[in-house]
Amino acid sequence: MSAPPIEQRGKLVEEVVVPAREARVATARAGQVLQIVDLEGQQVGDLMAYLTEDPTEYMSPGHTLSCLTKLMPETGDEVFSNHRTPLLRIVRDDVGTHDMIVPCCDPERYSRDYGIEDHPSCLASLQKALGEAGSKFAAPGESAWNVFMNNKHEEGRVVTHEPEHGAGAAMDLEVLEDVTVALSACPQDLTPCNAFNPTPMAIRVWEPGG
Ligand SMILES: [Zn+2]
Repeated sequence: MSAPPIEQRGKLVEEVVVPAREARVATARAGQVLQIVDLEGQQVGDLMAYLTEDPTEYMSPGHTLSCLTKLMPETGDEVFSNHRTPLLRIVRDDVGTHDMIVPCCDPERYSRDYGIEDHPSCLASLQKALGEAGSKFAAPGESAWNVFMNNKHEEGRVVTHEPEHGAGAAMDLEVLEDVTVALSACPQDLTPCNAFNPTPMAIRVWEPGG
């Protein structure tokens, strides 16, 4: 029933390696497949996405949870914008755990909770990468989808566990609208979020073939 993996039926048109503790930007067009890859394993990526033509419309985890009426998106589910437009559809998910509740880590997370003033953060990395790509897109922390994050909901609490997935784990997202995306390889090394060892990731854009 399901289509073969995109590696077998598509052509790689772009690969952007996201170094550990940094973020990078890529663009994808409707009909392509956006692939988020954990190169070494047990790593979380914080993903933001914007309509390329109108970045005031962007991927919204909150709206996605509302549209899906569930806490964890699954294969086959769409991911929605702040105007409830489907932007992406999950077509493959090697990991199956994601967080769409907590905002990405930000400078205040480290200063307030750990007393560290200069720790890298997903929010600062994403804003820097978007800025270097020439974007003036707003990047609110709550618009990031915490891809591969192993958060569990336990008796009303959100508990972060070490990710269990290995090197090469990927998620394929069918692109439904032309989007510009930014991915942070989360630098959190003070909680189990990235198994205390932040590592690089990759964004791959595939053109499906016949
Ligand atoms: Zn982070």
